[in-house]
Amino acid sequence: MTTTTITSRTRPKPTFRVPDRSIYERRESEVRSYARAMPRQFNKAEDVWMYDNQGGRYLDFLSGCSTLNYGHNHPALKNALIDYISADGIAHGLDLHTDAKAEFLETFESLILKPRGLDYRAMFTGPTGTNAVEAAIKLARKVTGREIVIAFTNGFHGMTLGALACTGNAAKRIGAGVPLSHVSHESYDGYHGPDVDTAALLDKRLSDPSSGLDAPAAILVETVQGEGGLNTASPEWLRTIADIAKRHGALLIVDDIQAGCGRTGTFFSFEGMGFTPDIVTMAKSLSGMGLPFALTLFRPELDQWSPGEHNGTFRGNNHAFVTATAALRHFWQNDAFEKDIERKGQLLANRLNEVADEFDLSTRGRGMMRGLDVGSGDIAAAITSACFDAGLIIETSGAHDEIVKVLAPLTIDDSTLSTGLDILAKSVRTVMAGSYGVAAE
Ligand SMILES: *Cc1c(COP(=O)(O)O)cnc(C)c1O
Repeated sequence: MTTTTITSRTRPKPTFRVPDRSIYERRESEVRSYARAMPRQFNKAEDVWMYDNQGGRYLDFLSGCSTLNYGHNHPALKNALIDYISADGIAHGLDLHTDAKAEFLETFESLILKPRGLDYRAMFTGPTGTNAVEAAIKLARKVTGREIVIAFTNGFHGMTLGALACTGNAAKRIGAGVPLSHVSHESYDGYHGPDVDTAALLDKRLSDPSSGLDAPAAILVETVQGEGGLNTASPEWLRTIADIAKRHGALLIVDDIQAGCGRTGTFFSFEGMGFTPDIVTMAKSLSGMGLPFALTLFRPELDQWSPGEHNGTFRGNNHAFVTATAALRHFWQNDAFEKDIERKGQLLANRLNEVADEFDLSTRGRGMMRGLDVGSGDIAAAITSACFDAGLIIETSGAHDEIVKVLAPLTIDDSTLSTGLDILAKSVRTVMAGSYGVAAE
């Protein structure tokens, strides 16, 4: 194992010159967001590190919101892509058959689907996660002839109208500017505390013809809510939800866009839980290298599309086929990677629990998708800001942005993980001691 020692030479350097940001202020829309909390200009990234153009170096515990599970520019993926481009491989081919697509599908079948006993058809949607969700709910409505989709409190599913309607966050939904309808937001596991069985409540509403809740086309769920605050659903709850979907004639869609590709410890976040979703959405880390690439998987009987019925110019990014195939071959040939994620996930949990115990806070999440509930968005923002000053890129999530979330690359070595968690712990202590300004409301 390689370990990285933080020496005075490699420690992130403070930047002394204020970088020129006038072009962004002049020309880039106000809609930009992450750049505001991290006002640097980045120009290089390798493994778990990002570099700015002033000589600063940052440890990346955000990983593109779990888009870079294998780190930045992993050599196995990068070299495969360089070779492919050098050989004039197809970059864009609409949905034509290409070598790159065939290799991806064959590899996905042999390394992912078959060993897990899964039988899914793969639909390449437009390249972002929200495209995969749109396709999933459209297919569910088409197949069932029903309109309502059940989504959950604190769920996040994307920004286009159909997916946005399924997203819990009101500030995001309000941006639609039109009514978002045909979705019912029900309570996620644990929403009313540990003593309320929210699956039983849902079952009751669906079983009562006078409850006001119409028979749904689909139940759309994340096993761990990435943007919603790293709330986890228990395997029992998810199994019950799967059973409810079946009994009430709805399709179960697992949105594995953030929790999938190993983030929770297995390739799919629902593995080993004793149920099989009808439809699965994937994106984020699927390409492995940060290239846009999304996939909607469904049981073959559900493949009732007519040719071109759900279309798109960028369906199946050939460069992403190449890097995704390389990622599957490099990381998913056997269970060594999964075992390593599980081990590191435990390490992460232990360290976060230590910090939580020190300040009577709580932790959330599963696998390498965990966070610290610090109680308020202002405190969380102060902590992530202190982390950034110390060379650690880390973000928040949750209804009030009150969860500091650790999304380190899954490939990180123990010593670097530890270094980042030291920075986090120190920042929490600094902020909790009141010696770091918490922005007033
Ligand atoms: C990020 C995310 C999406 C949306 O993906 P985009 O690529 O941003 O459109 C949907 N669902 C979940 C669970 C996500 O984390």
